[in-house]
Formats: sequence, structure tokens, C-alpha cells
Amino acid sequence: MILAKADAVVRGLVGEILARFERRGYTILGLKLMHVTQDQAKRHYAEHDGKPFFPGLVDYITATPIVAMVIEGEDAIEGCRATIGATNPIKATPGTIRGDYGQTIGRNLAHGSDSPESAQREVAIFFNDQELFPRAHVLGDWISAK
Ligand code: UDP
Repeated sequence: MILAKADAVVRGLVGEILARFERRGYTILGLKLMHVTQDQAKRHYAEHDGKPFFPGLVDYITATPIVAMVIEGEDAIEGCRATIGATNPIKATPGTIRGDYGQTIGRNLAHGSDSPESAQREVAIFFNDQELFPRAHVLGDWISAK
């Protein structure tokens, strides 16, 4: 699951971010602009609870609506995280989302799940079944053929 976080929305970079995943050939199963509740933010980032940056992180992703997306494709977890770039934008390679648009770790624009298990857990926090459209892209297998 991908989030275009609050700074991406405020800076008008949602289209840029979404386009990168579409252009790589991933299929979009779910997409919405939404307000994240404190509870959703804390559950989403539960692994960071107790760390010094946790309160600021929760404030960050609840500050404005964010755009949540569920995308699918070959090795999508690894590919999407490569497209997003390193957590700290200063260390992120130019050509990645964070490397092209970010400056600070506290405003790094996008989130990408780090494992299939995380993705499943996170999708359930942000989407219900009626908001996901797994059959919308009937040619998905054809596009990623080896
Ligand atoms: N973060 C932060 N300060 C830090 C480390 C992380 O503000 O020192 C934030 C940042 O927004 C990051 C998020 O916490 O994207 C989750 O951190 P993680 O290590 O899981 O990085 P990611 O998977 O997002 O690259």
C-alpha cells in the first residue's frame, strides 16, 4: 500500500507520485483522498510507537487529507519502495520520489509497505472491501508477462 502523505498533498505532488507507479505498469486496485484519524495513524505506524519522532509522525499524516492507494504488480513491494527511495530524502537517489522532491526525513512525501504482511495489515486500516477493485484491470497479467 502506498500513501502520498500530507506534504505531497499540500505541495500538489499527488499526480507526480501516482504517475510514477502507473508508468511502471502497476495496476491501481484502490485510490482515495482521505482524512487519517489519530487511531488509524497510530495503528499504521505502531512499530514506531515510543520512538522520539512518533508524535510528530502521527501529527504529520493527520495534518491534512492524504491519498491512499493500493497497487499491484510483479514484486510490487520491492519495486514501489525503490520508486519511493530511501527514508531520508537526502540519502535518496535522484530519480526516486524522495530523491527528487524531498529534503527532510520528517517530510518525505510517500509511504510504501515493506512486506506483503505489512501491506495486508495496512490496507485493512485504510480501505474496506467495497473500495478495492481487483478485477478492474483485466490485462494486468498481460502487462507483466515475462
Ligand atoms: N521518520 C521520521 N524520523 C525518523 C525516522 C522515520 O520522521 O528518524 C518517519 C518518516 O516519515 C518515515 C516514517 O517515519 O517515512 C516511517 O519510518 P520507516 O523507518 O518505516 O521508513 P519508511 O519505510 O517510510 O522508508
